[in-house]
Amino acid sequence: MVGPTSGADGASGTTGPSAVTDPLLELEGVCAAYGPYEALFDVSLRVRPGRALALVGANGAGKSTVARVVSGLVPTTRGTICFDGHDVTGRPAFEIARLGLSQLTEGRSVFSSLSVEENLTLSFRRALGRRGVPGALALAYEAFPLLGERRGQSAGTLSGGEQRMLALARVLVLRQKLLVVDELSFGLAPVVVDEVYEALQRVLTAGTSLLLIEQHVDRALVLADDVVVLSKGHVVYDGSVAGVEGRLGDLVLGRVEAVDGAAGHRPVQGHGELGPVGQGPVGQGPVGQGPGDSSA
Ligand code: ATP
Repeated sequence: MVGPTSGADGASGTTGPSAVTDPLLELEGVCAAYGPYEALFDVSLRVRPGRALALVGANGAGKSTVARVVSGLVPTTRGTICFDGHDVTGRPAFEIARLGLSQLTEGRSVFSSLSVEENLTLSFRRALGRRGVPGALALAYEAFPLLGERRGQSAGTLSGGEQRMLALARVLVLRQKLLVVDELSFGLAPVVVDEVYEALQRVLTAGTSLLLIEQHVDRALVLADDVVVLSKGHVVYDGSVAGVEGRLGDLVLGRVEAVDGAAGHRPVQGHGELGPVGQGPVGQGPVGQGPGDSSA
């Protein structure tokens, strides 16, 4: 049995949340824009250590923008982002990654011309040093036997689902603190989505928190404890999964107004400024389209 590896790129043992109840990731009043087009308005959310937060919303609601802002790929225009006790607002993506934050998207996050083993070795050597590689490889193959069987195969010839497994094996072995998952199951057959979700469950069980953006909302909610609903760049629900039961579809589609969440949930940030969901100040187009979509 191979022991777990620790930390992300040697960042473990640094600041970290000061108490179990402190959020691992906290966005406070975050605004973001693409040039003149504003995509996020006063977005606040928290991911608790060891928990999964599902971020849901209609097309163009701003979910991927949140993922990019968190990873340092899109700058904020206002607000703060705190990760693992560090203020990472405005910090470059590579620095945030070093603190233990990984992002996986529907895109194939592997080097396609390298073999499975070369892909893993590259990540493990960078994070753990040469001597950490054999143990990390053993752990990856133990967790994902299929990758062991395919270790010599070039990653570009793996199926979409297998490529996701390869990416998730890196996250699992390197014990990343937070995994931001943006439509990881996009384009996969349902049976493969099941496998990807089983792998995500393993990643969560191993202690990595998840920020889950997923078109299959039902699947995301099986893993998630908390849910944030975005509508046209605004948070319209922030609370427990149980607290939004039965109303989630209506919220996402803009058929009900923003809700404060049931007892024990944090109030929706700034929702008092909103009119009915779907008629916020951003979009003019139909629900499900942001202004970027509707401005021809
Ligand atoms: P989907 O579920 O369709 O992927 P989303 O909720 O992830 O949508 P985002 O991709 O974050 O939404 O987009 C939010 C808004 O920002 C949309 O109106 C979109 O058109 C706009 N947008 C996204 N990327 C850019 C960009 N690079 N340049 C300009 N506008 C953009």
